[in-house]
Amino acid sequence: MANETLRFADLDLSPEVLRAVERMGFSAPTPIQAQTIPLMMDGRDVIAKAPTGTGKTCAFGIPIIECLDPEITDPQAVVVCPTRELCVQIAEELRQLTVYRPDIRIASVYGGQPIGRQLAVLKKNPHIVVATPGRLLDHMGRGTVYLGNVYTAVLDEADEMLKMGFIRDVRKILGATPADTQVVMFSATISREVMDVAWEYQHNAEEITVAAEGDNRPKIAQFALLSSGDRRIQDMLCLIRELSLHRVMVFCNMKNTVRRLNDRLRREGCSVDCLHGDIPQSQRNAVMKKYREGKFEILVATDVAARGIDVDDVEAVFNYDIPEENEYYLHRIGRTGRAKRRGVAFTFMTPDDRFRLRDIKKYTHSKIEDLAFDETGRPVLKTGEGLLETVKNWENQRNFAGE
Ligand code: ADP
Ligand code: MG
Repeated sequence: MANETLRFADLDLSPEVLRAVERMGFSAPTPIQAQTIPLMMDGRDVIAKAPTGTGKTCAFGIPIIECLDPEITDPQAVVVCPTRELCVQIAEELRQLTVYRPDIRIASVYGGQPIGRQLAVLKKNPHIVVATPGRLLDHMGRGTVYLGNVYTAVLDEADEMLKMGFIRDVRKILGATPADTQVVMFSATISREVMDVAWEYQHNAEEITVAAEGDNRPKIAQFALLSSGDRRIQDMLCLIRELSLHRVMVFCNMKNTVRRLNDRLRREGCSVDCLHGDIPQSQRNAVMKKYREGKFEILVATDVAARGIDVDDVEAVFNYDIPEENEYYLHRIGRTGRAKRRGVAFTFMTPDDRFRLRDIKKYTHSKIEDLAFDETGRPVLKTGEGLLETVKNWENQRNFAGE
């Protein structure tokens, strides 16, 4: 579903939002935006299946903003998402979209932050509430947020959220909104739980699918190499040097590995920091902020800590451990190659992981090439071609493909 010709200006948007989008540097709507925005502005329920990095936040953010009545003091839109990081990030993107609409108030409420501060924000009568399910229910119970006037409810990363055991919470939240609330769901996959919730709470929903094919496929060159134990550290540093990378994310399966790797890399003199579930929320936010601002180069993280995180121009993702779930592979590598940018992903594996890799390839339809070091220590493909040349050629090909 290419839409090179469609512009934001064709979508019936207010001058304030058009200016904001321009200021954010977007030249044209992504396919999911082109499809979702008009439907949502017509008040339709939508269930959208789209991979990460396709611009879902603005796809629901823009119509929410356009349809608000700033005079109403109860929340009119509620966005529910699985993690605190995602919450912060969505609220941030919405704030960018409303820079020319100072009359619109946005609140984000999530676990791990002092309730008091959120109470103050909620007292200011936000029009849009972005929340994780548990904390939102908490506020509903205290009577500090009222969903009885909600016009639009969005479930972002619905599959992930429902898989994480939030299904009862999500039901309670949707149950507290008016029966005719516009319910919009975004999901990478349409799981059983997603279908159940859609069936229960949506009315005549329009289905949208944005495939991870062609134009929307993340532009990521993917490689796998046999490397395990501490050898991975030297191999990783070698690859980082070879491609002159300065913005890297490294994924480990366990918190302890994250901690240890962070320490080791620091001792190697790397500019590094880490994110995992045991780090207090305030510190996690600070780490994310520093990483976004480019104040350090290598971010080591677990899957949960990094879910949905959107940082522009991550150049490469390393799977220090091969992900345990196929979907994690896509989520991880989706940190790079976002929007119009390109990226590289490396997966380290033991000989036993070959089967896992085969499974990942099959499930994700990814082309993952084998990489090894030759006698001189240069990273090369099976064909003997060097990594650097391969990545360069590949980028050129993508350019010729008419981006
Ligand atoms: P998703 O939720 O689908 O993973 P996001 O909403 O986080 O994707 O968007 C991914 C990135 O693309 C963000 O950096 C966002 O600012 C950017 N983006 C969104 N819409 C556009 C657009 N129309 N043109 C260019 N970049 C965009
Ligand atoms: Mg998203």
